[in-house]
Amino acid sequence: MAPHKNIAVIGAGVVGTCIAAKLVEDGHGVTLIDPLEPGRATSYGNAGGIAATSLAPLSMPGTIQKVPGWLMDPLGPLTIRWSYLPTLAPWLWRFWRAGTPEKVEKQADALSALLKRTYDDWEPLWKAAGLDRLVKRDGCLRLYESKADYEADAADWKIKRDRGVRSEMIDRHEIRQLEPDLAPIYEMAVLMPEWNFVTDPHRIVTGVADYATGRGLKHHRGKAVGVRTGASGIEAVITDTGVVACDAAVVAAGAWSHEISGWLGSKVPLETERGYHMTLPKPNVEVRHTLHLGGWVMTPMEMGLRLAGTVELAGRTAPPNWKRAEILVERAKRILPKLDATDGSPWMGHRPSLPDSLPVIGGSPHHRNVFYAFGASHLGLTEGATTGALIADLVAGRTPSIDMTPYRIDRF
Ligand SMILES: Cc1cc2nc3c(=O)[nH]c(=O)nc-3n(C[C@H](O)[C@H](O)[C@H](O)COP(=O)(O)OP(=O)(O)OC[C@H]3O[C@@H](n4cnc5c(N)ncnc54)[C@H](O)[C@@H]3O)c2cc1C
Repeated sequence: MAPHKNIAVIGAGVVGTCIAAKLVEDGHGVTLIDPLEPGRATSYGNAGGIAATSLAPLSMPGTIQKVPGWLMDPLGPLTIRWSYLPTLAPWLWRFWRAGTPEKVEKQADALSALLKRTYDDWEPLWKAAGLDRLVKRDGCLRLYESKADYEADAADWKIKRDRGVRSEMIDRHEIRQLEPDLAPIYEMAVLMPEWNFVTDPHRIVTGVADYATGRGLKHHRGKAVGVRTGASGIEAVITDTGVVACDAAVVAAGAWSHEISGWLGSKVPLETERGYHMTLPKPNVEVRHTLHLGGWVMTPMEMGLRLAGTVELAGRTAPPNWKRAEILVERAKRILPKLDATDGSPWMGHRPSLPDSLPVIGGSPHHRNVFYAFGASHLGLTEGATTGALIADLVAGRTPSIDMTPYRIDRF
C-alpha cells in the first residue's frame, strides 16, 4: 500500500464526491474544493438513471443525418443556439468524426468495460452511506409507438446485445399491465432490468459526502482559480478563498474541468450538452419504472415525477431557455392523459461531454500527482462510484481491473 497523501479534489459533483469517498476509505487526507455545496450543479437535477445499459456512443453512423430533422422539430430532442455555432464547430466536427463504425465499436467496448462495474462499485457505497432505500431496482422501459420506431434503433440494440445487456421484449398488453396510466399508444417496449434509478440524485451526492465527512473528508468552500506546481508536480490549489496545499490533486469539476486541465498543460475538447428537467410535485399519475422515450425520460422520484433530458448546445454562460423544460411537459401530457402539471419546477444542468462519448479518467501526462475525472456526459451518476474506485486505484498505484487507455486525457 502506497503511503497516505493529502489530496485535493476539485469539484463536489457526484464524480468528485465519489472520488473523495473512495480516497478517504483508502486512508488519505482529502479536501473537497467547490464554491457550492456538494451536488448543487449538474448532479442536482439529473434523471436519476443508473443507466448501466447505455453502451451506445452518442455519435453513431447516421446520427449527423438525423440532426436537421431534430432541429426543425420544435418538440425535438436537440437544439443549437446559432450564435454559439462558431465556438461549437470544432467540437461538432470531432463528434461527427467519432461516429465511424470502427470507432463506435471501440467506444462501446470502453463504455461497456466501465458500465459492467456499475453495481459492483455503487452497491457497497450505497450501503455504507445508508442510501439503499433511494435505489429502485424495477428496470427501465424503452417505449416504442411502432415496430418501425424500434427497428430504427437497431444499431443501438445490436451494440447493447453484442455486449451482454439483458433485455426483454414487452408487448402492448404487458405495457398496459406494467404502466396502466400510459395512453394506449405504445405497440412495444423493451425492459432493461440493469437500468435502475434513484429517487433523489441530489441526496445521493449529499449522502456520499456525509459518509465521507464522517470518515475525515474536509470541505473547502471556494473556487479554484490557479495551481502552484514545483519539481514534484502540483503542490497547492489556489482558490478565491485561500490556498489548499496538497501532495496530489484530482480535477473533477464537470463541465468546467478543461479550464483547470489547461493550467496543468492538458488541453481537451470539453463541451457542455445542456439538459433540462421539469419536476411535477403532484402528477396525479402512477409511473412505476423509468420510462425511456428516446431523447428524454420520466422518473418517479420522491419529490414528484421528473421529466428530464434533451440536449441544447449553447455553451456554459447563455441563460436557460425554459421553453425546453416546458416542451417536456407538452410531450408528457400526450403520453399520460391524466397528468397534472401544475407547480412544476424547471431546472437546467451542464452535462460535461467529450466528442467520443467517453469520460476522461486517468493521470496527467505532465504531472505525476495530478489526476483527471470528468466528461461523463449523460452518465455521470451511473459512472460516479466506478470513477471513484478507478481514481483511488491510480492514486494508490494499484492496477485497475480495466484497461484505462481509452479514457486518457491525451487521446485527442
Ligand atoms: C437533464 C439531465 C439528465 C441527466 N440524467 C442522467 C441520468 O439519468 N443518469 C446519469 O448517470 N447521468 C445523467 N445526467 C448526467 C449527469 O448529471 C452528469 O454527468 C453528472 O452530474 C456530472 O457530474 P460531475 O460531478 O462531473 O459534474 P457537476 O455535478 O457539474 O459538478 C462539478 C462541480 O465542479 C464545481 N466546479 C467547477 N469549477 C470549479 C472550480 N474552478 N473550482 C472548484 N469547483 C469547481 C462546480 O461548482 C460543481 O459543483 C443527466 C444530466 C442532465 C443535464
